[in-house]
Amino acid sequence: AAKESGKASWQRFLPEMRQDVMNHARLGSELHNAIIRNELFLLYQPVFDIVTGRLHGAEALVRWQHPVRGFVSPGDFIPVAERSGLIVPLGSWVLRAACEQLARWQAEHGDGAIRAVNVNVAVRQLREPGFVDEVAAVLSETGLLPRNLVLEVTESSVLDGRQVRETLHALHEMGVRLALDDFGTGQSSLSLLRAFPVDVLKLDKSFVDGIADGEDRGRLAVAAAVAQLAEYLQLSAVAEGIESEAQLDRLRAMGYRLGQGFYMAKPLRADEAGLLMAVGPVHAR
Ligand code: C2E
Ligand code: MG
Ligand code: MG
Ligand code: MG
Repeated sequence: AAKESGKASWQRFLPEMRQDVMNHARLGSELHNAIIRNELFLLYQPVFDIVTGRLHGAEALVRWQHPVRGFVSPGDFIPVAERSGLIVPLGSWVLRAACEQLARWQAEHGDGAIRAVNVNVAVRQLREPGFVDEVAAVLSETGLLPRNLVLEVTESSVLDGRQVRETLHALHEMGVRLALDDFGTGQSSLSLLRAFPVDVLKLDKSFVDGIADGEDRGRLAVAAAVAQLAEYLQLSAVAEGIESEAQLDRLRAMGYRLGQGFYMAKPLRADEAGLLMAVGPVHAR
């Protein structure tokens, strides 16, 4: 809020800041009840093979429908949940709900169902000593295979420390796949990619935006370099936040095989995503 107020005087800034702190405190305590009161739900944004146009997978994205506030954006409550530690139970709920949904899609659509669901995981979850066991338990209880799950982590998670790195290695050993989310925006060095068991690079939306802006050589260069890097390291690359046909064409030409964005599909309710699967097998076998 302070940033938007331009030449904000302290007289204006301070009350605003206190308001922010109070809102966060209240939001935090309300979030605490949100899980119990069934106010959270998941949407699924399809990921497409942008060469064949086939549905490839889906990313689970949490939503909060507050009885009074109405819709609260994850951009607002996820940071609050991360700071308070509530992200741990919230993240557990998301993991289980997404796996249960994939199991339901598999039962309903068989070969038409997507092969894996992507779940965002915060560093606080990865620091929990029981996280690997929790993932194993959710997979076995839902009847999914480890390869049916892609965990999206950020570059900063990978840099968090030895314990988190060991957790990521253990998950990878188990067969769960790991995606580096918002790739290109963080601090990671290329050598880190070799030391860390990553399977998927997700090019951040900001670089995809740069393609629409035409002559932004810097962001174009990053988008192209990430595609090449993925190819050399034999990782898959996903471009996120595709909003136009021009971006899609350009990304395809750069070598991206997978993409997600409002141009193809917004995050969908589970039943809507299921309709895409009812059309038939999503992968050439
Ligand atoms: P993210 O993981 O990078 O997710 C992609 C975000 O970009 C989603 O926003 C998605 O709706 C949005 N998006 C996708 N395509 C487009 C597009 O073409 N245009 C635009 N303008 N936006 C697009 P969303 O759902 O609001 O989530 C924002 C962030 O909140 C996520 O970024 C992720 O960091 C976090 N988040 C969401 N769900 C979860 C969750 O279950 N757990 C955790 N830890 N974080 C979550
Ligand atoms: Mg993500
Ligand atoms: Mg992302
Ligand atoms: Mg992003």
